[in-house]
Amino acid sequence: MLEGQYDILFEPLKIGPVTAPNRFVMMPYANGHSYLMPNGAIGIREMRAEGGWGIIGMQLSEIDPTSDLSGLPYERLWDEGDVKAHAHSVDRIHAHGALASIELAHTGIRSRGIENGYPVLGPSSLPTLKPDMPYSAKAMDKSDIKRLRQSFRAAIGRAKRADYDIAYVYASHDASILWHFLSPAYNTRTDEYGGSFDNRLRLLREVLEEAQDEAAGEMAIALRFAVHEASGPKRITCDGEGRDVVEALADLPDLWDVNISGWSADSQTARYARQGYQEDFTSFVKQVTNKPVLGVGRFTSPDIMVSQIKRGVLDMIGSARASIADPFLPNKIREGRVEDIRECIGCNVCVSVELSGVQVRCTQNPTMSEEWRRGWHPEMVPAAETPQSVLIVGGGPSGLEAALTLARAGHEVTVADKADEMGGRSLRESAIKGLASWARVRDYRLYQLQQMGNVHLYAGSELDADAVAEFEADHVLLATGALWLEDGRGRSNLAPIPGFKGNALTPDDILNGSEVSGAIVIYDDDHYYMASALAVDLAEKGHEVHLVTPLPTLSGWMGNTLEQPKVLGELLGAGVKTYPNTTATGWQAGALNVMRSDTGEALPDIAATTLVAVTNRLPETTLSDALTARGVPHRNIGDAEVPGTLQAAVYSGHRHARELLGHEPEDRIFKRERPTLFL
Ligand code: ADP
Ligand code: SF4
Repeated sequence: MLEGQYDILFEPLKIGPVTAPNRFVMMPYANGHSYLMPNGAIGIREMRAEGGWGIIGMQLSEIDPTSDLSGLPYERLWDEGDVKAHAHSVDRIHAHGALASIELAHTGIRSRGIENGYPVLGPSSLPTLKPDMPYSAKAMDKSDIKRLRQSFRAAIGRAKRADYDIAYVYASHDASILWHFLSPAYNTRTDEYGGSFDNRLRLLREVLEEAQDEAAGEMAIALRFAVHEASGPKRITCDGEGRDVVEALADLPDLWDVNISGWSADSQTARYARQGYQEDFTSFVKQVTNKPVLGVGRFTSPDIMVSQIKRGVLDMIGSARASIADPFLPNKIREGRVEDIRECIGCNVCVSVELSGVQVRCTQNPTMSEEWRRGWHPEMVPAAETPQSVLIVGGGPSGLEAALTLARAGHEVTVADKADEMGGRSLRESAIKGLASWARVRDYRLYQLQQMGNVHLYAGSELDADAVAEFEADHVLLATGALWLEDGRGRSNLAPIPGFKGNALTPDDILNGSEVSGAIVIYDDDHYYMASALAVDLAEKGHEVHLVTPLPTLSGWMGNTLEQPKVLGELLGAGVKTYPNTTATGWQAGALNVMRSDTGEALPDIAATTLVAVTNRLPETTLSDALTARGVPHRNIGDAEVPGTLQAAVYSGHRHARELLGHEPEDRIFKRERPTLFL
């Protein structure tokens, strides 16, 4: 690292009446903790403030009950009764020298209107934005508009009383009434709030002006605005009305927070977008306004961050995922410890979990959402009372994470892996097209372990029960992983499929270098990334590929990572022939026998030379069974305990290590948020 190379990231920046201590912003991202879980949410924010983020964002907060995101884990700032909890959160952020911001929102036709009984509000009479929900929006009349403006103003006042430094007016992600008024696709009004660009902009301008008036120079006002819509009818684009909005409102907000819309375009994964992918759309903003500009782009590299600022693309670096994966990223850069950064791998497991209404989980950071309830710190592990020896068999994600956690506590840790290189599935799968960043799971942990004197790493060392027993470690952890099944048993079909066993290749075979020849049929009863990633990879290597799945859609789970449309497009582009709603009934040399999943009607055979089964995995317990037979105590961790996602394997390694250290409650009951009962 060159002297002063990253100094620009630590220059304070004036934003209206407040000054950010540096250029790192933890974005107002959805963290899966609603207003009913304030302690856990404060734990998340406080940890990032401690880790050096200059501004800490409160997630989307409804300004009143007509913005009804019922059932989703968001925040509220409806009335004075909500101010106290927000003020406490702000206090915890200020205690670490960071500024606190809040994203105030009315979600317009993105609202649900189920819980509160008020109609969903829109610029025009429209269906709500979830086509599968039987609800519609009321076209707002003048009194609705007046009330909405009052609601925004009142919420700004409450934000000020909660001591926020920056209040956002939110107009992004196709999830804001202000955006909905702006959009010619939604706004078909004929009054002064519809029709011309100036008329459609009127409500956003009024709300911003009134926000500034209410803030009265004591709090900065930010505008979060999507300058470009990636898809949809009558789009707002960065070379059209997106730019016009920035020109029209140029110096009205104190801070421009700009991105692209909708959420799947904003939060793209590493499989489909490079770091800094929003630059082409947002870089014009700084040419148009004199106010600071903040943007996102899955930034983890300080060099790219510096480049964005030096080239005049952005003034501030916003991060949701990078701050989830490494809450201490800014401090590590400041302290010259860039190689210690735990880089986000861009997998969107965090998004998939949040969409399930669950507190956010992260593949790289097992302590995410555990800050308050389990008291886990992302960088520190309390010292073990007595240093002991630990033998870990398997250097995949779970083995390496357990090793790091136990070594940080002071134990003498040995990791043995039969493969020539440590990393297990994170390394092997990173060879598949689009999944290169999976290797970061290994890279971060391996580098840390290599720096520690109390860690011994042995790649190329297969251990059997004799070897483990002879080692006489105080503790044995088996992180031996899981193996893909070849017999066709999957997630929707629990029985073997005739002809599969002995003939099908598995992802393990392919990743271990098995030869594939001729046309390939991949049978996907797993529904996550493996089948589609292999299909594209093999197709681009010149094979004819057929992808068959018993479910109605391909790669079903990837809707939750916001990737499914892109996966389908990629398959199409690579020439993969797809067969949804198609169940395999047998394999005979040269053909997959299939039927319709819904009716059972036989379909024409699919001719292929090679069959690849991507169905389910079973724990690899050979060593565990042998040790159990000899009475050698041990724990199975990660995929060897229960096969799952990379995230689950890392988490398992961490949890088992903490349990072994004796920090976890015996009864497994961690701290919970308890609602107040009024008697
Ligand atoms: P997880 O996701 O739980 O970390 P992985 O499948 O990624 O599991 O990693 C398991 C690792 O265990 C692999 O790298 C494999 O080579 C290693 N392994 C399995 N059995 C043995 C053994 N008997 N001795 C040494 N290493 C083993
Ligand atoms: Fe990044 Fe994946 Fe963690 Fe989300 S879950 S922050 S995408 S590593």
